[in-house]
Amino acid sequence: MAKTYTCLDVGVDCTWSTSGETEDEVVTNIGEHAAEVHPDVELTPELMAAVRGVIKDA
Ligand SMILES: [Zn+2]
Repeated sequence: MAKTYTCLDVGVDCTWSTSGETEDEVVTNIGEHAAEVHPDVELTPELMAAVRGVIKDA
């Protein structure tokens, strides 16, 4: 089952979304996106926990 994520779900004003086969694949995509588009957002353990909490089954 595929996993999906969108920045809007963690309260970031950004409509980017991604999907992957596994949660880890999605998290990797999010890390690359964040580094490019949200360099001001610090990827703290708390934020990454929130991110994993909003990743949905597609
Ligand atoms: Zn974004």
